[in-house]
Amino acid sequence: MMNAKEGKSVTPVDLSTTVESILGPVNWITEQEGFVTCPGQSLHTHRTGKRDCKLYLGSVPTLKCFHASCSSLVEAKNTELRRALADPQRAKDAAKRRLSPEEKQRVAELQRKEQVRLRAAKSKDQILQQFTWPFESIQADSPVPVAPNPANHWRPLISLFQEGDIVWSGSLYDSGKPAHHVHFRTREQWLQGSHAHGQFICPAVFKPDSFIRGNDHIVARRFLVVESDELTKDQVGGVFRWLKDKVGLSLKAIVDTAGKSLHGWFTYPEASVVDDLKLVLPELGCDPKLFTASQPVRLPGKLRDGKYQRLVWLNDGGVL
Ligand SMILES: [Zn+2]
Repeated sequence: MMNAKEGKSVTPVDLSTTVESILGPVNWITEQEGFVTCPGQSLHTHRTGKRDCKLYLGSVPTLKCFHASCSSLVEAKNTELRRALADPQRAKDAAKRRLSPEEKQRVAELQRKEQVRLRAAKSKDQILQQFTWPFESIQADSPVPVAPNPANHWRPLISLFQEGDIVWSGSLYDSGKPAHHVHFRTREQWLQGSHAHGQFICPAVFKPDSFIRGNDHIVARRFLVVESDELTKDQVGGVFRWLKDKVGLSLKAIVDTAGKSLHGWFTYPEASVVDDLKLVLPELGCDPKLFTASQPVRLPGKLRDGKYQRLVWLNDGGVL
């Protein structure tokens, strides 16, 4: 601790405060480097990424932005920053800055996440090979035989929801106006129908009286629907089986979208698992859109360009 007589007691944490008072919050990645919001972000002529503007401490504190259009503002901040850190004590602190316990924890978490992501990226080929589950085998392996008439396949899928759940089904634009409330019905109301109502369904469930299919109107997420634009129908089964057998997710159904892809319907996992899957699944070639709660997906039992969207694998939860 510093003697009060020596005047300003400048701890490294104070240094962070000084830096952040000039640049706004810093996302520290080491003791000497971190990312900030560019002071000239509004001048960027291309899309701004999270890691575009970086701060380097050390003997000459420097802010560098990947964009060029903001350079005058970045330079002005550099001058301000160097002036603020110019007194000898601050310069010394800047040179041997230590992370605060909170910063250390955050950096460790960032590093852990990066490792999870990298490990997934490296294991992709191995996972697809080891857990391979070609389309034909998926169909042959269904625990509950799927009905021969695909027009009825909406019924077992909707049955997978819980009693009383308010489920949305419709076309992509059946949302946003009071008249759209007819697309939000309980599981039981849907099951009283005679045919698939809409081309799409949402795997999350909604508040009573909803007419907007938006994240703010969701009460619970029932399923994580995994899909890939990149993997073929013979490849994506490898991801489904890896999630089922290795990660321990509960696979409820697999839907053939009548396009290029298959959708794996999993019981929605707990938050910590979801956090890791957000890093892992995109590395395995899956679509990150699937993490958006209100994302609509194809409902089996409806035609798409003359072909049925249909179930190809079903675990349980409904009579066909
Ligand atoms: Zn910039």
